Amino acid sequence: MGLTIVGTVAFDNLTTPFGSKMGILGGSATHAAMAARFFCPVSLVSVVGDDFSPEIMQDIQNAGIRTAGVQVKKGFKTFSWTGAYEYDMSQARTIKTELDILNVFEPQIPVDQSDQDFVFLANLDPELQLKALAQIKVPRFVALDSMNLWIQSKKEVLLKVIAKANLLVLNEAEIRQLTQETNLLKAARRVHDLGPTWVLIKRGEHGATLYSKQSFFSVPAYPLEEVFDPTGAGDALAGGFIGYLANTQEFSEINLRRATVVGSCMASFIVEAFGCERLQGLTIDEIEDRFQEFISFARVDMPVPVWDRRMVSVS
Ligand code: AMP
Repeated sequence: MGLTIVGTVAFDNLTTPFGSKMGILGGSATHAAMAARFFCPVSLVSVVGDDFSPEIMQDIQNAGIRTAGVQVKKGFKTFSWTGAYEYDMSQARTIKTELDILNVFEPQIPVDQSDQDFVFLANLDPELQLKALAQIKVPRFVALDSMNLWIQSKKEVLLKVIAKANLLVLNEAEIRQLTQETNLLKAARRVHDLGPTWVLIKRGEHGATLYSKQSFFSVPAYPLEEVFDPTGAGDALAGGFIGYLANTQEFSEINLRRATVVGSCMASFIVEAFGCERLQGLTIDEIEDRFQEFISFARVDMPVPVWDRRMVSVS
């Protein structure tokens, strides 16, 4: 009854208006796992090169994450992403992606994980996402993330993975690119037609919006004066979301709304420091306190009737 997260484990080189850091632990699966581990047992499925030290692997294990599904490829360098953010921190600019290792990666789900209920296919080549998913017997909930690179270069196979997902997580630009719809409501409808019951749109400093076929739910981003490094915010959002679902095992509308708030909490923490540093030292008490704050942002206690109609002449 756990969560399998398939995606990249990376060394990131990041530049933000607050400075640069080279070779820090990142990757779509790492960020998501670091967020999800607060809610359920998490197993990572990924690949690293022989430049990935056993000490870093041990750090990941010490965080409570299973790494039996992480392959070490001799003669290859770990996936690496070099990105930069200008003062508008909502858009990362990719400077370089070293993804040779993905070309030789055949995801292997450890046998004792093939009956996992919950799967998060974090950002990765959709062909690899499909191969990994095929090894999981009957998942109860599959969440999927992708990005502009795969939408542009591998749309056909990406559509096959989307058809198998219960939830698709994309940012505004990505869902517009995928569906060729500028209007986000229409874009979400198009995704529903492709298969997923749920669509979660990441909106950076404006928060996140969850769409089902019948409903719409929006959560603001946590008001932070300093967003230090937005890398991994989307992965932490998705990791918190599906980790919470795996914990509560309930797929009602209200519970998916709660999952959106939990995911937003996790995203708000990860951006407070470089890479996943902030998630490494985080406590469950801090998460619960922030969850309460999030709820207070959206609560409006209004009496019924809500205002005095006798004050106006309009009927
Ligand atoms: P996010 O900020 O949530 O979009 O995720 C950023 C993480 O995604 C970084 O740590 C990168 O290592 C990783 N990443 C960047 N490009 C790719 C890619 N093409 N495929 C998979 N992971 C990537």
